[in-house]
Amino acid sequence: MAFIAKQKVNGNDYYYLRKSVREGKKVKSICLGYLGKNKKEAQEKMEELLKSPKREVKRMEKDKLDRRDISIEELSIFCKRRGFVYPSGDIYGGLAGFWDFGPLGVELKNNIKKEWWNFHVTRREDVVGIDGSIITSPLVWKASGHVDSFSDLFVVCKKCKKPNKIDKDELGKVRCGCGGEYDEKTAKEFGLMFKTNIGEKGESYLRPETAQLIFTNFKLVQENSRKKLPFGIAQMGKSFRNEIAPRDFLFRCREFEQMELQYFIDPSKLDDCPFYEKIKNTKIGIWSSSSQENGGEEEILSLSEMLEKKIFKNKWHVYWLWNSYQWFLNLGVDKNNLRLREHRKDELAHYAQAAVDIEYKFHFGWKEIFGSHDRGQFDLGEHEKFSKKDMKILDEETHEKKLAHVIEASFGFERAFLVFMIDSYFFSKQRNNFILKLHPLLSPIKAAIFPIVKREDFEKFSEKIVDDLNKEWNVVFDRSGSIGRRYSRNDEIGTPFCITIDEESLKNKDVSVRDRDTKQQIRVKVLDMKEVLKKLINKEIDFSSAGKLII
Ligand code: ATP
Repeated sequence: MAFIAKQKVNGNDYYYLRKSVREGKKVKSICLGYLGKNKKEAQEKMEELLKSPKREVKRMEKDKLDRRDISIEELSIFCKRRGFVYPSGDIYGGLAGFWDFGPLGVELKNNIKKEWWNFHVTRREDVVGIDGSIITSPLVWKASGHVDSFSDLFVVCKKCKKPNKIDKDELGKVRCGCGGEYDEKTAKEFGLMFKTNIGEKGESYLRPETAQLIFTNFKLVQENSRKKLPFGIAQMGKSFRNEIAPRDFLFRCREFEQMELQYFIDPSKLDDCPFYEKIKNTKIGIWSSSSQENGGEEEILSLSEMLEKKIFKNKWHVYWLWNSYQWFLNLGVDKNNLRLREHRKDELAHYAQAAVDIEYKFHFGWKEIFGSHDRGQFDLGEHEKFSKKDMKILDEETHEKKLAHVIEASFGFERAFLVFMIDSYFFSKQRNNFILKLHPLLSPIKAAIFPIVKREDFEKFSEKIVDDLNKEWNVVFDRSGSIGRRYSRNDEIGTPFCITIDEESLKNKDVSVRDRDTKQQIRVKVLDMKEVLKKLINKEIDFSSAGKLII
């Protein structure tokens, strides 16, 4: 049933035609169109519209998008064609496990990293960042256990003859994707660290994770930043692993980036987490280790139930898992495509007391995109032993020296990239084109600006807007092709807003802004454009109320 609704925009009243629709169990009100600036005018227009053929009103409704499955192979082709990701050194045939990011890919990459850093470091009082070197003393990797135990088992399938990697305890228990058995006779341990030379005689490794330099710098960072427990140190940057079988596009690379946070807690206060009460009833699907061992499925549990079942050993670990899950949700990932998986005892890393991953439902199965570990006092303890430096800090209240307990939240940038791309892949029947429905904060290009016709005065007007918006965001002046072609090209690369300049714009100093996801259009004054775009990108305002809705 349609009704009139009044809305205040910049102090003025505007009247809109709205309609209640049922979506699942909820009733939502959607905007059908603009009716004018006063009630009488609105009443007349509504009657006129409701009398007119049904399709007139339909035309103003939001476009409905369908989620589309995209396989990892299709995604890699799409990414190459559109300038997101190329095989590294493509003209020489590429190199397995190495990738280059193109013009759109590098923008998306920078945006993902920026959002990660803002969420985990900038907006928090209790976390600071570092940027450690890629090559460091080889003693670091001896102390951490990587030199002795960071390896996989290299196996070859008896049937398809392809090499693969499995965990050491999986030999004889798992089979190749083709169904074949792995040859146990030729199975061998394979170190995952890349060795490198330093000067004439020195040797070290390219770091296989970013975590260790957080531990080695722990005391310095704590002293410099004058932090008291609990507090966190974050780092993002390149990691290298000589993976036996790099595969599935960006999923398993040999060079990749990690975004990691290590949170240091007083070992006697592992349950003093001020956030826990607020989140403990959050329910999430989890595949527990007992369920995996008994051949069971995932179940929906609240975080407090997971703690009771000892999936987590303390409340801080629960919180960091929840916080990481929330990061994906905030940036638009559909929670139906995410689940948690507890590590079984036989696969727990040597340093971990408990581990829970976040997995994403890829075409090739549920796979890890994030790992959280309760690392206890292992790392600081080992570095204390190997370096003979005191890694404890003084508790000023009790005057006791304490070795901090660590919870790790570890994201892989490339896997986050895949998740955001795959989860954003939609199709519109009405438009007959794909729409990359990225969160505007992640979109490589925030707005495309184009004059409706090729004319000097239109172009000058457009250039001014581009210059102004470019100071804040990556926006482009899109000159070529029909308007429809320009819209669809921008839909496909995830540009959330298209700004068109027409005859009215020159007269009224305003522009029309089109929303990628709904196709709705609003009219916005040029002077307000920056402010409106900022609110739209941050999703602080509903599109239809950000300006005058155009019918
Ligand atoms: P996997 O079991 O898939 O090899 P992992 O358990 O060894 O992963 P971690 O050591 O926990 O991974 O690393 C943390 C995160 O780093 C992972 O969740 C993933 O997002 C990312 N990551 C790890 N290895 C790779 C890789 N080879 N390519 C891309 N990302 C990776």
